[in-house]
Amino acid sequence: MKISKPRIVVSKCLEFDQCRYNGLSINDSIIRSLKDYVEFIPICPEVEIGLGTPRDPIRLIYKNKEIILVQPNTKKDITVKMKKFSDQFVNNLGTIDGFILKNRSPSCGIYGIRVFDDIDKPSVKFKDKGLFAKSILHHFSNFPIEEEGRLKNTEVREHFFTAIFAIANFRDEVTKPTRGKLIEYHSKNKYLFMMYNQTILKKMGKLLASLTDQKIEDTVELYFEMLKELFSRRPNKHSVINVHMHALGYFSKDLNSKEKKYFLNTLEKVRSKIIPVSGVNSILESWMARYDQPYLSKQIFFQPFPQELIDPSDYAKGRVLD
Ligand code: SF4
Repeated sequence: MKISKPRIVVSKCLEFDQCRYNGLSINDSIIRSLKDYVEFIPICPEVEIGLGTPRDPIRLIYKNKEIILVQPNTKKDITVKMKKFSDQFVNNLGTIDGFILKNRSPSCGIYGIRVFDDIDKPSVKFKDKGLFAKSILHHFSNFPIEEEGRLKNTEVREHFFTAIFAIANFRDEVTKPTRGKLIEYHSKNKYLFMMYNQTILKKMGKLLASLTDQKIEDTVELYFEMLKELFSRRPNKHSVINVHMHALGYFSKDLNSKEKKYFLNTLEKVRSKIIPVSGVNSILESWMARYDQPYLSKQIFFQPFPQELIDPSDYAKGRVLD
């Protein structure tokens, strides 16, 4: 199965450069593991606007009903520079499949970034997003965008990896789109999409059912919007079991009652988090090899991203149902 290479913007201090305010970089094993499978576009917005490395720290403050970015030691207000750079950057980015941004940064952070009462006060008024991150979130709504810290969580990481590889694969498929290519993409992703959102899966199916080669560009655009929406939330924890039950249907004539019972018992163990999802997938994959099920065998659901990106310790944690 061909796996596309996602194009991912990453905060440059994560593995790529010693560009933090203190002149250091951050070791990140997840970014390291992705390097062979992803085309990274590293960027440090603070260096790009000329703050230099090392530099005095910066912070967000709330002033005159606005959030501004300042450097307390030099009293510089760098809000305009940062906003201008961020807008230019996102407007010139071209094709992209996702973002990994550094947490806790007044530039790159997505969640819980402190906005202080004033340039020299320690009190926090409220929490918001970094300025650079805000621009990205605005321009790339529904794209996979994560902080590196959250990717340490198995469930968050697998969802992010699944989304970026599915979107990259879609981008590759529609470089020169045809009706056949779109239908093939949808067909091999059907069970993955079913796990994520059955309502959107149905809408996508309807859209493709009325597709002709004449209006393909419009369809690609609409389909892509649905695809991003589908991946904008992690799958419901019970929906993976629904997919497994659908897959079981392919073998109903081939299996004896003991085999079916064993499979259903295994599903129960997954539901109770006694064993990981991969336990059920392995059974299905062995039946696919034995009974030759070409439609099921091509399903991305069974390998949504390169296997090498699975942390072996995840196998012991009950993947997806955590
Ligand atoms: S968090 Fe963002 S701005 Fe800060 S050093 Fe890293 S890349 Fe640069």
